[in-house]
Amino acid sequence: MKKSLVLLSGGIDSYVALALEKGAGFECSTLSFAYEGQPIPELRAIREISNRENVINYSIFHPSISFLGQSLPIRSFVPNNLLYYSMAVVFAGNNGFQRVVGGQNRDDFTYCSDAGNSFYESFNNLVKSYSFKDVQIFQPLLDKTKREVVELGLSLNLPLKITWSCEGRGPGTCGVCPNCTSRHKIFNDLGISLK
Ligand SMILES: [Zn+2]
Repeated sequence: MKKSLVLLSGGIDSYVALALEKGAGFECSTLSFAYEGQPIPELRAIREISNRENVINYSIFHPSISFLGQSLPIRSFVPNNLLYYSMAVVFAGNNGFQRVVGGQNRDDFTYCSDAGNSFYESFNNLVKSYSFKDVQIFQPLLDKTKREVVELGLSLNLPLKITWSCEGRGPGTCGVCPNCTSRHKIFNDLGISLK
């Protein structure tokens, strides 16, 4: 069975990506990035999702992630996919995984230039030049809007209420960050509540 390493942030997208990858028959583990000041609810979401899906969660603590976030708007820091996927691919290559799976959706590309198909195609070509050339990045949600991802998660009966998307530091959701705003709008539009 092929092994997949699914990047898990604790949010809806990565949870749906994990469920799809498991459903496709891959042996999955999750990889999360730990950083200084990481909100407790985010850590709890990562743990709960991994436990519920019965997969091992690996965590990489990378001080430079916190460093990059300092004095920058958090939007400029979060989509640093070049950094995240570089670490994930090396981890995967060194630990017998053939796929690195992310939960990037189509809406991400509207504010994040390293979230589109061309970025991942280029990245995969670059990875082929390394000794672990069998590792490839796979983005199953790249053609879906955020709303479509939520609908997909609901259709898979995933308990989306255990996810955490807020960019604040907790303990509760801030309600005003872009992720909270988007999440609330989609849930309102769909007429659902995750309370
Ligand atoms: Zn928020």
